[in-house]
Amino acid sequence: VEMNIVPILSEDEAFQGILVILNDISELKRLEQVRKDFVANVSHELKTPLAAISGFAETLLDEEGEKSNHVSEFSRIIFDETQRLNRLVNGLLELSRMESEKMELNVLPVDIGEVVQNTLNAVQQQHQSVNICFDYIPPPAGIVIDSDPVLISQVLSNLLDNAIKYSPKGGRIQVEVLDYADRVEINVVDQGIGIPSQEIPRIFERFYRVDKARTRKTGGTGLGLAIAKHLLENLGGQISVQSTVAQGSKFTCTLFK
Ligand code: ADP
Repeated sequence: VEMNIVPILSEDEAFQGILVILNDISELKRLEQVRKDFVANVSHELKTPLAAISGFAETLLDEEGEKSNHVSEFSRIIFDETQRLNRLVNGLLELSRMESEKMELNVLPVDIGEVVQNTLNAVQQQHQSVNICFDYIPPPAGIVIDSDPVLISQVLSNLLDNAIKYSPKGGRIQVEVLDYADRVEINVVDQGIGIPSQEIPRIFERFYRVDKARTRKTGGTGLGLAIAKHLLENLGGQISVQSTVAQGSKFTCTLFK
């Protein structure tokens, strides 16, 4: 049951009583659960055929001997697209898991500067071929807070992947860790395409993408930021963004001490 309590005031604002409104939302809750189960089941069922398709496409690609141009080209496309679908299905399963169970956190004292440095190194390693320059500004002194390092790293990798995807060649990405009395902020700043201000409230929704055609090209799924937001909220933190079109974006992760 959802309850709203509203005070009843007379014209001269004198207190007259209260109005209690009770709403039966059990049907709504049930429908929400049906939706979540449906997404989880469909994603799960898609995994098996997908594994078969990408396996056979890969075999075709690796096959020795003469192949017509079409066969090579088409097997490459089938393989790439199944990889994308795989990322999507995995993202959906991950989101379903986060919604359905209370996420298990593995909380321990975390050196934030170190987690950020390690994540940045791993992401750079994966994107060696991109022509992007990374700057890391570590905190002036070590900051240790109780949190889950694996989740922090996952959030940061998502933000860094985006910063790379939406930056021009030769772009610069800056990562900084700021220490405040009550919180730590991790900023990922890029000089990429930016996000129009009217789109900003929506980019954390699942599947929301500003430019559908472009993201298809970059292989995005539209789930990265939804997952990052969920993860940070589970850690008691927040994510926010400031952005200017054609100048760049700054994503801020806040973790409270
Ligand atoms: P995607 O897989 O499409 O990148 P995300 O959930 O990670 O999905 O991001 C949602 C949308 O937000 C993206 O499609 C893109 O339009 C926008 N976006 C995210 N990060 C950036 C960024 N650093 N610069 C510009 N646009 C961004």
